[in-house]
This record gives sequence, C-alpha cells and structure tokens, in this order.
Amino acid sequence: MRAYLDHSATTPMAPEALAAMRPHLEARFGNASSPHAWGREARAALEEARGVLARAVGARDPQTLVFVSGGTEADNLAVKGAARAGRGRHLVVSAIEHHAVLEAAAVLEAEGFAVARVRPEADGRLDPAAVEAHLRPETVLVALMLANNETGVLQPVAEVAARCRARGVPVHADCVQALGKVPVDVGALGVDLAAFSAHKVYGPKGIGALYVRPGTPMEALLHGGFQERSRRAGTENVAGAVGFARAAEAAVAALADDAPRMAALRDRLEQAILGAVPGVWVNAPPAPRAPHITNLAFEGVPAEALLIALDLEGVAASAGAACSSGSLEPSHVLQAMGLSPERCAASVRFSLGRGTTAAEIEYAITTVARCTERLREALPAPV
Ligand code: PLP
Repeated sequence: MRAYLDHSATTPMAPEALAAMRPHLEARFGNASSPHAWGREARAALEEARGVLARAVGARDPQTLVFVSGGTEADNLAVKGAARAGRGRHLVVSAIEHHAVLEAAAVLEAEGFAVARVRPEADGRLDPAAVEAHLRPETVLVALMLANNETGVLQPVAEVAARCRARGVPVHADCVQALGKVPVDVGALGVDLAAFSAHKVYGPKGIGALYVRPGTPMEALLHGGFQERSRRAGTENVAGAVGFARAAEAAVAALADDAPRMAALRDRLEQAILGAVPGVWVNAPPAPRAPHITNLAFEGVPAEALLIALDLEGVAASAGAACSSGSLEPSHVLQAMGLSPERCAASVRFSLGRGTTAAEIEYAITTVARCTERLREALPAPV
C-alpha cells in the first residue's frame, strides 16, 4: 500500500489535460507568433486556452492573463514588475508568503526598496487592519496569498484588497494553492495581480499565469520578444497553456464535489492521528483552511526522521515549503505564527488530492502512529 499525501508539492496530471496537450506536441507544433497556417493554428489554441483559464479564475477579459513558466515566475513578475513600475519605493508582504514572493521582495530590498513583512495572528491568519497599518503614501504593492501552502489557512484577501484600493495601492494575491480547492474569482477578490500554477491543479509542470488587472503598472522581467503583449518575452508554451486551461477548468468544475470530500478525508486523518498518537498538535486551527492540507506537530519527533520513516513505508508527506521538501530549514510560516523552534522542527504537512482514497487515509493513519511510536522509542529523550 502507498499513500501520496503531498499534493501541495505537485499533482498528477488529469488525463483530459494530457490528452488535450498531445496534438500540440505532435502535429500542431507551430510557433504561435508565426504568421503562417501552422502559427495561426497554434495561436488559436493559445487564445482559446487563455479564454478557458480566464473563465476558471473569474477574469472577464482573457487578455488580463499572462502565461508564464509557473507560480514562481508569476510571483516574481508581480512583485518585481509592479514594484519597479510604481512611483514609490515601499512594499508590504505577508511574512507567510511562498519564497517566490519573499525572495523577490528581498531582491527589491537590495535595490533600495523598504519592505514591511506582516506577521499573522497565532492561528496563521493575517489581520487586514495590521496590513493596512503598514501602508505609506509611497507603498507600491501589497502581496498576500489566498491559501497558505503549509497550513492551508485562508487569508482575508478581499478585505485587504478593499482597504488597499481605498488607498490606491495595488494588491498581488498568490492563488497557487487556492485554485481548484476554494472558489477563486479575481474580480470578486478585487486584486490587481494574481498568480496561478498548472501543476498544482492536475496540469503540466512549467506553466502558470499571472492575472494583471488593466491599468496596473507592471514592468516585464524578460525581454527579447513581443509575446504576451510584451509582458513576457519568449516563445509561447502552447501545449502547456492548453493543458493548464483544461486542468483548471476541470478542477473548478469538480470543486463542489472534491472540496467537501477532501475536507472529510483530511478531518478523518487529523482526528484519527490526534486520537491515536499522544503529543500531537494541529498547526493552525480554528482558522478557515483550504480543504486539502493539514499540518501536524509530533512532540519530540524530528520531522525529517518521520518523513524518512513514512517514505520507507510508502507514505509521502513533507515539511517546510511545498517546493523545498528536501530542505531542512525550519518553516518560516510556522515561525511567523509564533510556534516554538521545537514545534516547527516536529511539524509535517499532509496534503490530499482529488484521487486520495479512504483506504490511503487509513493506511496513512496507522503508518503515522506506528512510525511515531517507533521513533519516540528509538530517539534519545530531549534534555
Ligand atoms: N506559490 C505557492 C503558494 C506555492 O505553493 C508554490 C509552489 O509550491 C509556488 C508559488 C511556486 O509555484 P511553481 O512550483 O509553479 O513555481
């Protein structure tokens, strides 16, 4: 038996997305910027994909979506692009953002920008008033995510966007972990920029999109061609865009069924582990969370040791950021929530997906209980 509980790191491809991509890797291989028939065919597929994706994320005008290489590029383009195009030299980011946002902000800091990093409350949720308190006349951007990738905690993006709009400050929302898990509508959120990634919603790796509300100042990061209306130079990844659009469309259509099912399985996992294993905490309740993530701390058990033990028994989970599961860095998200270093070091994220079964969850429960007990026996007691 095996149980893949690391869907926040990446998801398997939806068969319909793979099937939709295939022709664009084979016979319909044209360059979407070529004026001839092959190119026009590719262009038509690209624009159709843009339209499908726009509907999936609530963007009224498909041209507000810029195809990029993934969530990391979307975040970098949003943060660096909007900050460098703005009139001031100050930005506000939440301290629990993905590294793609935090590191982009750090690069700007080295360029002379002032960066305010807002910590969440103890339950992992940002206080909109605390974000607003950091705004200055020269603030060029506020960046906060919709669903946190480590805890799943949903952030008050619409409330923050409303406060920022009243002050004329653009807002970027990283929606990478939210799409397909909770309703995402960029119009209703009222944000100016929003990042998406295909491989988190059963699409291919290497493609994502940035929503850019018309009129939002933004400098390009890549230069060399006029693709994506000069917002992102480089030959378009038509097959990727087609697969992304199909996957996102399917994920959004299935959300009403998938979300409660995943939440029920996640809750079963959480409750059963809490019941079976002494010294376990859930990192983040009672804040509202995306349905697919739980983050648990196992007292006295180093996360790395537990992850290795689980891996040996066929259970995949992770510690720390979604994209750096191999890193031993303590989670900046849990640290920002004020958790002790010991608890951070003992925390593991389990993330479910559309294909997760009840049998996998039962297997994970017994395996976690067994591995935790074994490790506690084997490890020296903390001094
Ligand atoms: N933003 C969040 C919240 C993420 O979880 C991730 C990946 O884990 C990214 C951005 C980066 O996305 P990508 O892997 O497509 O570069």
